[in-house]
Amino acid sequence: MAHRERLHRPDHIYPVDEWRLVERQFCPDSIAATETLFSTANGYLGIRASFEEGAPAWQHGTFVNRFYESRRLVYEEEAFGFARTGQTIVKVPNGTLIKLYVDDEAFYLPTATVDKFERVLDMQTGTLDREVVWEKSSGKRVSIRSRRLVSFVHRHVAAMSYEVVVLNADAPVVIASELVNDRTDEADDGDPRTGMAGGRVLKPHVHRVRDTRVVLGFSTRSSGMRLACAADHLIETDAETSVATKCGEDSGQVVFSVAARQGVPIRVTKFLTCHTSRRVPPAELCQRAEWSLDRAVEGGFDSLLGGQREFLDDFWRRSDVQVTGDSGVQQTIRFNLFQICQATARAEGAGVPAKGLTGQGYEGHYFWDTEIYVLPFLIYTTPRIAKNLLRFRHSYIDKARARAAEMNQKGALFPWRTINGEEASAHYAAGTAQYHINADIIYALKKYVDLTGDNEFLTEVGAEMLVETARFWFDLGFFSPRKAGRFVINGVTGPDEYNTVVDNNCYTNLMARENLRYAARTVQALIDDDPRQFVYLAAKTGVSPDEIGDWHRAADEMHVPFDEECGIHLQDDGFLNKEKWDFENTPPANYPLLLHYHPLVIYRHQVIKQADVVLAMFLLGHEFTLDQKRRNFDHYDPVTTRDSSLSACIESIVASEVGYSDKAVQYARYAALMDLADVAGNVKDGCHIASMGGFWMTLVYGFAGMRDHNGHLSFTPRVSERLPFAICFKLTVRRQLLSVAIDRTSCTYTLCEGSGLTITHCGESVSLRPGVAETRPIVR
Ligand code: BGC
Repeated sequence: MAHRERLHRPDHIYPVDEWRLVERQFCPDSIAATETLFSTANGYLGIRASFEEGAPAWQHGTFVNRFYESRRLVYEEEAFGFARTGQTIVKVPNGTLIKLYVDDEAFYLPTATVDKFERVLDMQTGTLDREVVWEKSSGKRVSIRSRRLVSFVHRHVAAMSYEVVVLNADAPVVIASELVNDRTDEADDGDPRTGMAGGRVLKPHVHRVRDTRVVLGFSTRSSGMRLACAADHLIETDAETSVATKCGEDSGQVVFSVAARQGVPIRVTKFLTCHTSRRVPPAELCQRAEWSLDRAVEGGFDSLLGGQREFLDDFWRRSDVQVTGDSGVQQTIRFNLFQICQATARAEGAGVPAKGLTGQGYEGHYFWDTEIYVLPFLIYTTPRIAKNLLRFRHSYIDKARARAAEMNQKGALFPWRTINGEEASAHYAAGTAQYHINADIIYALKKYVDLTGDNEFLTEVGAEMLVETARFWFDLGFFSPRKAGRFVINGVTGPDEYNTVVDNNCYTNLMARENLRYAARTVQALIDDDPRQFVYLAAKTGVSPDEIGDWHRAADEMHVPFDEECGIHLQDDGFLNKEKWDFENTPPANYPLLLHYHPLVIYRHQVIKQADVVLAMFLLGHEFTLDQKRRNFDHYDPVTTRDSSLSACIESIVASEVGYSDKAVQYARYAALMDLADVAGNVKDGCHIASMGGFWMTLVYGFAGMRDHNGHLSFTPRVSERLPFAICFKLTVRRQLLSVAIDRTSCTYTLCEGSGLTITHCGESVSLRPGVAETRPIVR
C-alpha cells in the first residue's frame, strides 16, 4: 500500500556518537530542523538553537512554559459552547544574540569562509557548543567558541560563554551582546498543527541598563501575563577593552570593543534570566530577575556547568536505556530521553507542551500526550515530576467543572488542549469531542499511584478528580434500551481524529469504564478506611455513597462495540459501515491526509489517523484475548495512516505482543527517528515529545514486554532475538530501583536499591533481593 512506503528506513544524517548530537558542517537548508533538534531547555525555559549572530535563522525562539498570549477565537458561524479563547505560547526576548565584528566586518555564516564548523548538543553536560574558525579574506583567522546552557538547577537561568581568539594577527574586535524583543512573529502559515498567531504581543513597561546589565519588563496585550527578562555580562581578556551600553523599550545592547592581540582569548560570559507571573507587576518581576542574575554572576559559568553535569548524571543513572552493540541506536535512544528531560525537568506548576519548549507547534498546548505518552517514562524514572504534572492538572479542576457545566454535563471535563485550563480547541469535532482526556488523566493517576504507592496523593488530590470524572461519564452516557440496557456513550471522538463525533468509541468506553471503577473503589475505600478524608471529599465534591452504585452499574453494563461476524472490536458502532479509503490511489505526497482532504471526505471513510483500538489493546491489555488482539491488529493496522506521531510507537508495542516482530521493529524505528530523521516533515515546529515518550515505551513495553497491570510488573521479552543489540534499563518502582538487562536469550533482573520486589518473568514469579542478579531464559 502506498502509505507504507513512507515507513521505509528513515535514517538521520548526524554522525554516530553515543552521548552527543553533532553537526559538522554549516547546512543552511537544515537550519529550521537543527534549531529544534539542538534546542536547550529545562522544562521551564527553552531556547531554540539559533545562531548567536541572530542570522540566518528560520525562527529564533525562547519560550517560557505557560507564558502565553490569548485571543478571541472567531468563528464565522458561532455555536454555543465553542471554545472562546485561543492561547498561544509566545516568544520572549531573544538573549542568545552575540554579534561579532573583526576589523569592523561582521561574522555571518552564509558568507564567511569557515575552516571548521562544529555544533554539539552534549547530553551529559547539558550544553550546546559551537566551534568555528573563520578565515577572513585578509588572511586573519578567528576562532569562535561558544557554549550555551539552560540550567536544570536554577530554573530561571540560562547562560552562554563566547570566546574569540584572533589566531594569527592583532585586530580590533567588537562583541555586541543583545537582548531583543523580536516583534516579527510568524504569520499564520496555514498548517493547523502550528496554529501561529501573528502581531505584536509584548507591551513594554520597564527598560533599564546598569554597567553590563540590561533589564526589560513587559506584559502581554490580552492574557495579562507579566514578564521580566534580563542579561548580565562578564568579560575576561588581557587586552584593552571599552564597554558601551544602550537600552530601549524592546531591546538592550552591551558592546565590548577590544584591541585584540594575536592568540589572546577574549571571553564574554552572558547570564540570562526570565521570570513570569500572572499577578506580580513587571517592576517587581524585574527585581526578581536581578536577584537571579546576581546569584548567577556570583556563582559563575563553571558552577552552572557543574550543576548541569550533576543533574544529568543523576538523570541518566535513573533513566538511561543502555545499548550494547549499536552506538547509533544508543544515540537515538539518548536523544529522545534527553529531550523528554528538557521538556519536563523543571516544568513546575505547568504542563508539558506537545513540542516541549523546542518550538511553537501546537501553540505550546498541553494535550493527553502528557498523561498517556510522557507520564509512563516519568513515573518509572522521576516520579516526583509525574506527581507535579498530575497536581498541575488538578489545579484546573474548577475550570473543568465549569466547562462540564457549559457542555451540559455534571462533574468535570478537562480541556482537550489548553495552556490556562480553558478549552482552546477551535475544531470541536477533532478537539473538544475527545472526552477521553478525562479517562486518560485518571489512567495516568492510577499508574502513578500503583507504581509509587503514593496513596496520600490519591486521597488528597486524585480522589476529587476521580469523583468529578466518574460523575461526568455517568452523566454523559445512558442505559440504552436499543442496546439491551447497556451503557452507551454517544457523540464523542476517540484518539483517532479521522473518525469524529461517533457513537461508542471502543477506546473511550473502555477507558471510561476503568475511570468509573477506579473512582468507585477509591471512594469506597475512603468510606471504609478513612472516613475523615471522605468527609473532606464530600465537602469538596458533594459526593454521596449512592453514586458509587451508579458508577459500578455503568461500568458493568458498559457497551463495548464488537462485531461477531468479523470477530473484531469496532472502533465505534459505525466504523465498519464506512467505505474503505482508497490507499492504492493516494499518492504519498497526500499524507498527512488532513492537509489534503476536507475533514468530511476523511470522516466518511475507514481510514485512521492514529492507534485507537490498538491503543486500547495496549493500555487495557487485560480486556482482550491474544486472539482478539491479533484480529484487531490485522484489521486496523492496514487502515492506519500514522498521520499522527502518536501512532507508530503504540503499533510497535502491540505488534510485538501479537508476534509481528518485523513490524514492531519497523514502527519503533519510525517513532525513534520521528525528529532526528524528520519523519513527519515538521520537526521545524518542534520535537514530538509524545512520540519520544512512546519510543521509550516501545523498548520497555514492546521489546521487553513489560506489563504493569495494577502495579505488578511482568516481563515477556518478545522481539529481542531479532535485535542485533542488548538493552538494559532502570525502573523506579515504589522507591526501589530495578535494573532489567535483556539480550537475545536471557533476561537479568537486579534490584539496585530497595528491600525486595516480586516480578513475573515469562509467567514465572521471581522474587528479587537487593543486589542479587536473577537471570532467566527468554521463553518463546
Ligand atoms: C494528534 C493528537 C495529539 C496532538 C498533539 C495530533 O496530531 O492527533 O492525538 O494530542 O497531535 O500532539
